[in-house]
Amino acid sequence: MARMTSSSRPLLNRRLAEFGTTIFAEMSAMAVRTGAINLGQGFPDTDGPEEVREAAVRALRDGRGNQYPPGPGVPELRSAIAAHQERRYGLSYDPGAEVLVTAGATEAIAASLLALLEPGDEVIALEPYYDSYAASIAMAGGTRVPVTLHPHEDRFRLDLDELREAVTDHTRLLLVNTPHNPTGTVLTRTELTAIAELAVERDLLVVTDEVYEHLVFDGSEHVPLATFPGMRERTVTIGSAGKTFSFTGWKVGWVTGPAELVAAVRSAKQYLTYVASGPFQYAVAEALRLPDSYFEEFRADMRGKRELLAGGLEQAGFRVFRPAGTYFITTDIRPLGESDGFAFCRALPERCGVVAIPNAVFYDHREQGAPFVRFAFCKRTGVLEEAASRLKTLAA
Ligand code: PMP
Ligand code: GLN
Repeated sequence: MARMTSSSRPLLNRRLAEFGTTIFAEMSAMAVRTGAINLGQGFPDTDGPEEVREAAVRALRDGRGNQYPPGPGVPELRSAIAAHQERRYGLSYDPGAEVLVTAGATEAIAASLLALLEPGDEVIALEPYYDSYAASIAMAGGTRVPVTLHPHEDRFRLDLDELREAVTDHTRLLLVNTPHNPTGTVLTRTELTAIAELAVERDLLVVTDEVYEHLVFDGSEHVPLATFPGMRERTVTIGSAGKTFSFTGWKVGWVTGPAELVAAVRSAKQYLTYVASGPFQYAVAEALRLPDSYFEEFRADMRGKRELLAGGLEQAGFRVFRPAGTYFITTDIRPLGESDGFAFCRALPERCGVVAIPNAVFYDHREQGAPFVRFAFCKRTGVLEEAASRLKTLAA
């Protein structure tokens, strides 16, 4: 039971009461406790490029970033972020006024919502949604309005009519995520065009979480929402070095957008962390300027890992939604005779020594997410092989 003050009022406020401990912390703790292979929380089990790590060491030794860096981020990193958006997507941002460095994408999301929402504003988010979206909307006093991605053939698909119907006179903001965690869906040009048209027609702000921008496979392409007509001026785009360079502990993220939107996000951000990750900012500036070959090899490596784990899950009897992007595979456990992802994930370490995430935690409509379970494949080949062989025992 929650601890009470003398007035019997719960300590945790009403806005946060429903959230408890994040599923990632819970499941990683379970992996440590049971010694199971952790395919739950999405973090790589090897560090990113050696030269980037060395760049961080150099910055530390040279005394760059050991004291408070500038509020918006060090100029070297802001320029590198702007250059990256220009080179990759032809999106031009002024590093002085249109780029903001944050403590990971998590702070970028929180600061954006805290800055842009009035209490009671509705925020449309694709469901299943990354868990910090719900908490950040709540902290900002907003109301979340989930639009569910439905499984259709081999992917989870956005129903554009449902999206349109979700918009009301109270809708302030669309919170989009592509490539999408946890389903691995990469929104298509057709879907993105419809989102953009709706945002323009209803004059909505858009916050788009594109932290997996470099993890798209096969024929899929990542197209930033900000590139669509009428979108640059209303869109806050979020990126993260954690995902792109495999340094999740460094907590370097960023926001790009038009000056007024970035200034608003900065207003909130300066009272959250103010600044973070000083020396790492210099290292990420170098990382963003790595040649295309780095990004191609990273993608090819992850694609191989996807094939390895997807094959293992298929042989174990899961229905596998092969992700077009991200480093997560969503599966349907019903072919295994199971229907409750929570119960399945709680029992999995005991049954076969693997930890996974029940997708239901990412849903308001929990029943819709109940049979889906997510596995992360950002792990060493040997670890994935071992996990696959353990999972196969489920089929026996
Ligand atoms: N958005 C999505 C979709 C994520 O999967 C994650 C998890 N890393 C984040 C944001 C948070 O990123 P960061 O670690 O940079 O805060
Ligand atoms: N983004 C990671 C995931 O989805 C986890 C990040 C976290 O632990 N907050 O698994």
